[in-house]
Amino acid sequence: MSEAGYDVERIRQDFPALSMLVRGKPLVFLDSAASAQKPRQVIDAVTKMYEAEYANVHRGLHYLSELATARYEGAREKVQTFINARHSHEIIYTRGTTDALNLVAQSYARAFLEEGDEIIITTMEHHSNIVPWQMIRDEKGLVLKAADVDEEGVFHLSSLEALITDRTKIIAIPHVSNVLGTVLPVKEIAALAHKAGAVLVVDGAQGVTHMPVDMQDLDCDFYAFSGHKLYGPTGIGILYGKEELLEKMPPVQGGGDMINTVTLEKSTWADLPHKFEAGTPPIVQAVGLGAAVDYVNAIGMAAIGAHEGDVLTYATQRLASVEGLRLIGTAPGKASVLSFVMECAHPHDISTIIDQAGVAVRAGHHCAQPLMERYDVPAMARASLGLYNTRQDIDALVDSLEKVREIFS
Ligand code: PLP
Repeated sequence: MSEAGYDVERIRQDFPALSMLVRGKPLVFLDSAASAQKPRQVIDAVTKMYEAEYANVHRGLHYLSELATARYEGAREKVQTFINARHSHEIIYTRGTTDALNLVAQSYARAFLEEGDEIIITTMEHHSNIVPWQMIRDEKGLVLKAADVDEEGVFHLSSLEALITDRTKIIAIPHVSNVLGTVLPVKEIAALAHKAGAVLVVDGAQGVTHMPVDMQDLDCDFYAFSGHKLYGPTGIGILYGKEELLEKMPPVQGGGDMINTVTLEKSTWADLPHKFEAGTPPIVQAVGLGAAVDYVNAIGMAAIGAHEGDVLTYATQRLASVEGLRLIGTAPGKASVLSFVMECAHPHDISTIIDQAGVAVRAGHHCAQPLMERYDVPAMARASLGLYNTRQDIDALVDSLEKVREIFS
């Protein structure tokens, strides 16, 4: 147990995958930024729902439908409390972060931006916070600009401020860069955006997983994240949006559940949040996400952040001792992502070789090709931490990287 009482060994026992052998070696899972492993509590909640609590939601007046609806809507309230949104109807279920960001582009930007209006992103975006804006830019004749980071991966507010004009209507940023680990000052950026008359969209895929987030405090207008990175199921994500914005936004998909009345001539829309949730939703996935929220709440997001911070500091020191390894992204206060390149080997070779030792990291462009260009590398290897990682995992990583050096030198 750590000094702060964080019992990581106990926590690890909740995750069946962590006791696996991979290629005859204990799994060292350092790829949680891509998708996190699932605790028994989430797996059990999903199984229980399929076994004894399952029916379609909102549609039946029978026992199982009422129960499933209560579970499904209960999970929404858990998410509301988790991110401290003002209302549960500000929580829209989506398929994930990508789906949520596309919803903002296809609804808000399409309805309210006009030719010549400007959207500002950063060079460190995941493709899911670039491509939806490019699509709507091309459709509507908008302007898309990107604020840069410095060589160390530090984000300076001035780089964003310099791009703001009286045509700026949307600022879209990551809460935490999935490559650099840089944490952006969301609250300050929200103030800047609002002063300019723009809305702030936050890609929170890597934010909500590492620290407590509070929508009312951050004051962003939209915040998107994925259940599967938060120890929950795939196929479920969240778009948080301020009520007054969601109210005036048109739906993007039409169909069942999102309507109030339908005639053959026209339809009217359901109230929030259902206006944005056409069709049978990801019922069981939402309930699984609720269980994941319960799980991280029981440990505490602040405690998770502190534990990961300790492992991150240790990892940063240990990786610095590997000859020829360059860590990319060293901003102060960064979160749990360690991207690196090695002089001797391509990231794909690094990842393949250390996999033989049971060490799982990611290699490639991390869905951030503009950032690869920014750092002038074709790809990076990335070790990313979750609430279950330990200093021993980092030792295993460093040992396996030393093997890479031996093989290639
Ligand atoms: N944004 C960031 C910062 C991410 O790291 C990811 C996933 O890696 C995404 C968006 C996309 O998430 P999803 O694939 O769950 O939609």
